[in-house]
Amino acid sequence: MTQFDYDLFVIGAGSGGVRAARIAALSGARVAIAEEYRIGGTCVIRGCVPKKLLVYGAEFAQTFRDAAGFGWDVGEPTFSWAKLRDNVQAEVARLSSIYAANLAKAGVEAIEQRAQITGPHSVQLADGRALTAARILVATGGRPTLPDAPGAEHVMTSNEAFLLPELPKRVLIAGAGYIALEFATIFNGLGAETHLLYRGDKVLKGFDDDIRTHVQADMQRQGVQIHTQVIFRSIEKTAGGLVAHLSNGASIAADVIMAAIGRKPNIAGLGLERAGVELDANGAIEVDRFSQTNIPSIYAVGDVTNRVNLTPVAIREGHAFADTVFNNKPTAVDHADIATAVFSSPPVGAVGLTEKDARAKLADVHIYKTSFRPMKNILAGNAQRTLMKLVVNAATDRVVGVHIAGPEGPELIQLAAIAVKAGLTKAQWDQTVALHPTAAEELVLLKERA
Ligand code: FAD
Repeated sequence: MTQFDYDLFVIGAGSGGVRAARIAALSGARVAIAEEYRIGGTCVIRGCVPKKLLVYGAEFAQTFRDAAGFGWDVGEPTFSWAKLRDNVQAEVARLSSIYAANLAKAGVEAIEQRAQITGPHSVQLADGRALTAARILVATGGRPTLPDAPGAEHVMTSNEAFLLPELPKRVLIAGAGYIALEFATIFNGLGAETHLLYRGDKVLKGFDDDIRTHVQADMQRQGVQIHTQVIFRSIEKTAGGLVAHLSNGASIAADVIMAAIGRKPNIAGLGLERAGVELDANGAIEVDRFSQTNIPSIYAVGDVTNRVNLTPVAIREGHAFADTVFNNKPTAVDHADIATAVFSSPPVGAVGLTEKDARAKLADVHIYKTSFRPMKNILAGNAQRTLMKLVVNAATDRVVGVHIAGPEGPELIQLAAIAVKAGLTKAQWDQTVALHPTAAEELVLLKERA
């Protein structure tokens, strides 16, 4: 393969690209990776990591309120957005440099500029350089979409939210998926008047209906103003800030309007058509189980393939690609029963089938659920409740879905996912002795069918 400059050229140094590049290079391959923005990609730079740190920051407001019930008098807390933002950005920079160091350690050549494909074995860099590779891996991720309404240029996305010069007093977020809810939780927690605007009738489409109802009601209880079944008619910039004019005739004034209405595969200007790479109807790169496109030398992993758009999935796909192609270990990623979380308040953890999906798929379904006020919230005088739900295939007794909304829901679901993935039965869950006093014990004490 020496006629090529590299054995592998990776486009995009995010979750999937970095893992694939490192594993391929460690096998002895000559690997380069191009990154047009910052090494680490969406998750590290403007996704999972900074978002979770902002959620932690916002949670303190409730913690200070809860503290009084436990005898603490913390006075009137004050908050500095600039300090939180800058500390988060410093952590992001630290992680990005670790990613860069790990690439270098593995022998990957990092090229910090945009790359585009010019043929099945060739790429061109932004500086004009043309390079060749035996194989090309596209790992360019996704990008946020903007509303299709006049004035959309005044709307920001999650990309800009991390870098706001100051904390807005009034925020309007369009969307009701996990990113919208997480940012509503952040801004509401930090004290902004927070509006959520959604064209559907309930937040968190795709999640279990009981969880959706629970989360929506609890966010409203906490002061998030949720406007359903409306879209933007237009967005106007006025002397006093932005005004969103809505399809129901209402208007909402805000300092910042954020769109979290979905993400699209990041393929614009990538040159895929020059190599003949096929896309699906949503503009995602079509790949087989081994992440290979219709062009044998071109592969794609992560959000650009729109399979399950989560960081650990992109990492697995990147690793599986490198094992398949460079380690002589053909590996297909199993996309079933992947746990997912929403770091909203209340936080959500979910794995497996929702009740609705289970009823559509299985002959008979048993549901177990419980709603309770966690121990800590009682002394705190905090009204937030936890909802837990198990979906069981009645024919096999297997637990096929677990849904939790409440404190530590994401932490709990990672462990519950092991049991779901292993195909354990409800009887086996019940054989597990409870650990007291925890919220998690409720998961092995669910006796009454709903
Ligand atoms: P990315 O990580 O997006 O990396 C793609 C990289 O390619 C980028 O760095 C981009 O700059 C670069 N690039 C694009 N085009 C080119 C080009 N032509 N040349 C050079 N470089 C290019 N996932 C979770 O699992 N948990 C979470 O809590 C979570 N929270 C999120 C919160 C937000 C606000 C967002 C936006 C996403 C979140 N995600 C979360 C999703 C997660 O970030 C993605 O699934 C993951 O980053 C996908 O990895 P990837 O390798 O496909 O692409």
